[in-house]
Amino acid sequence: MIQLKSPREIETMAAGGRILAATHRHIRPAIVPGITTLEIDAMVEAFIRSHPGATPSFKGLYGFPASACISINEEIVHGIPSPRRILAAGDIVTVDIGVHYGGFHTDSAWTYPVGAILPETQRLLDVTERSLYAGIEAARVGHHIGDIGHAVEEVVTRARYTVVRDLVGHGVGTSMHEEPQVPNHGKPKRGTKLQAGMTIAIEPMVNAGGAATRTLADKWTIVTLDGALSAHFEHTIAITAEGPRILTTLD
Ligand code: MG
Ligand code: MG
Repeated sequence: MIQLKSPREIETMAAGGRILAATHRHIRPAIVPGITTLEIDAMVEAFIRSHPGATPSFKGLYGFPASACISINEEIVHGIPSPRRILAAGDIVTVDIGVHYGGFHTDSAWTYPVGAILPETQRLLDVTERSLYAGIEAARVGHHIGDIGHAVEEVVTRARYTVVRDLVGHGVGTSMHEEPQVPNHGKPKRGTKLQAGMTIAIEPMVNAGGAATRTLADKWTIVTLDGALSAHFEHTIAITAEGPRILTTLD
């Protein structure tokens, strides 16, 4: 069942989302060659907990051992922070963070360049970010879930990249993962109709190569099957009568 949120509940989620956005802003300058993914995770956890009432959603979720999922290069999602994973110039790194605040979760991921990256790598980041905003733009009352995925996929396909189909966005609220699923592909006017009060995480995962994925032996990290780079941009939004409202932002 889809849990619609009241305007007051959406304001609570926006407050948590601001903490999440501030967390991304806080770690960004630290994402440089030589830092480990465990050090980034420690910064994420300490910063979130410095806000009274806020906790990292992912710690312990389904047994995940850390506060952020940190995924490098061909890793798509769910990378486990480690003291042995050291960022190098030219890498890209996705930091996916959840914040629990006031009884509600918010969820936002960003892929960052490490030092100087190749122009074609930057293009992958730019296209993925653009596909996220195309999806958000389509998240309007009266549209359908399929309109969101269609808008995302169109941007990605035009750039000759592929969207990951094995992983999807999701409703978010008192639980981190709620109905409905929000795929990054779809047909216009198909799927659940969008209503005011729905809060969803839209999160295109875009591969420079093929769409196929596999899970590593750690049972968490999901990588591209062909080893090509993957990027991931995610916002939690509310669908309102006035249009989509991004909740995981400082604006
Ligand atoms: Mg996320
Ligand atoms: Mg998510």
